Amino acid sequence: MKIQGLLQDFDFAQTKSDDEEEETSEDFSESDDYESCDYEIESNSDDDTIEDVCEFGEEDIMKSDDDLDSNKGSDNEKERPNFPVFNPIEIYRPTFELGMIFSTRTELRQAIHSHAIITRRSINITKNDKSRLHAKCVEKGCGWKLHALKVTNECTYQVRTYGPDHSCGMSFHVKNLKSKWLSSKYLDKFKCDPKRNLKGFRIEAMKDVKCHISSYQAYNAKRKAIEMIEGVLDEQYSLLWDFVDEVKRTNPGSTVIVGTDQLAGENRFDRIYVFACFENGDYEWTFISDKQKGLIQAFEVVFHNSDHRFCVRHMHSNFENAGFRGQAFKSILWKAARATTLNEFSRNMEEMNELDENAFQWLNDNPPQNWSRSHFNTYPRCDMLLNNGCESFNSSILEAREKPIVSMLEWIMEYLMTKLQKNRDRAE
Ligand SMILES: [Zn+2]
Repeated sequence: MKIQGLLQDFDFAQTKSDDEEEETSEDFSESDDYESCDYEIESNSDDDTIEDVCEFGEEDIMKSDDDLDSNKGSDNEKERPNFPVFNPIEIYRPTFELGMIFSTRTELRQAIHSHAIITRRSINITKNDKSRLHAKCVEKGCGWKLHALKVTNECTYQVRTYGPDHSCGMSFHVKNLKSKWLSSKYLDKFKCDPKRNLKGFRIEAMKDVKCHISSYQAYNAKRKAIEMIEGVLDEQYSLLWDFVDEVKRTNPGSTVIVGTDQLAGENRFDRIYVFACFENGDYEWTFISDKQKGLIQAFEVVFHNSDHRFCVRHMHSNFENAGFRGQAFKSILWKAARATTLNEFSRNMEEMNELDENAFQWLNDNPPQNWSRSHFNTYPRCDMLLNNGCESFNSSILEAREKPIVSMLEWIMEYLMTKLQKNRDRAE
């Protein structure tokens, strides 16, 4: 399972960024495009393999090559000798062997980059096409090289020439160390902690690989890892319709409306409204208003059985406007609003009566089920006294707002479910 996971992660990384520009001044100077160009130019002199082979132990390698060649054209798996097969779990600490089989070219490339990084040498991939891959150490005269060929009718690649020894020295700057490699290697860590501090990540990664990583590379690595985890912003908009269907399917009775704008003849996402129904449509509404005229009547017409509360902050401001200013009035009003038992509420009202009969009368004219916890309907499991829900909701979802659309909606749903359950638990 783990092996497969690694491979998938890795393939994903590869397919995503193949067409992305990502070379920085500190990144490896050869892009994929450059490598294929290189091949086109050199493809005329195709016999350099033999020269390369001669360079390091002609006898051994020629023998191995002969061995390998004798198996050429044998499509039958059973007839193939037991070549070593690269284990993808070793992708960040690979060892190469002559004859070794790699399941894809991508896997082989990644292994070569990892080898370069752990040995702290820069390696050039000089030929990289659909039939072969050649890599050699960038230092002139150094003997490290690897040639691999694609196995006929398979997507596997086999090491056909291998010179394992570097005669060059180690370096702190390894050109193969790119943000793509970093993002794959540290993907799991970003999964556990997506808000991982960039500076901390860079220092940790540099300690790990003992090579230089620029701030820009660290930033790109984090960005790519987060994209791999959450999907790219644009892609998530195309998943939005599936998300809407899924919410409707799993929560019958829910309403989800996606609003779009017309821009240059195309529909563009504008807003989304989600009303998820969790209990078979059996629900009651509670509204908290600032007691605007008309609103109360409207609630009664549209939502017959709805519960209505006044925002206590607005109510206090009306209370002040009625002439009851000062700390004493304010604190008693709030005590009465926060009272959770009828006795406590009565005590507070009595206190108000002693302070000022008119103030008591004013408060008494407002039905307590609209503004005091002691009289609230318990169905909503909610003791809110203010209608600044939007503001506090907005500040609670700050973390989610930087996510792509579907991840953001999922985050908010999870947040709301947890919050509602906590309130239910508290109420019971
Ligand atoms: Zn070398």
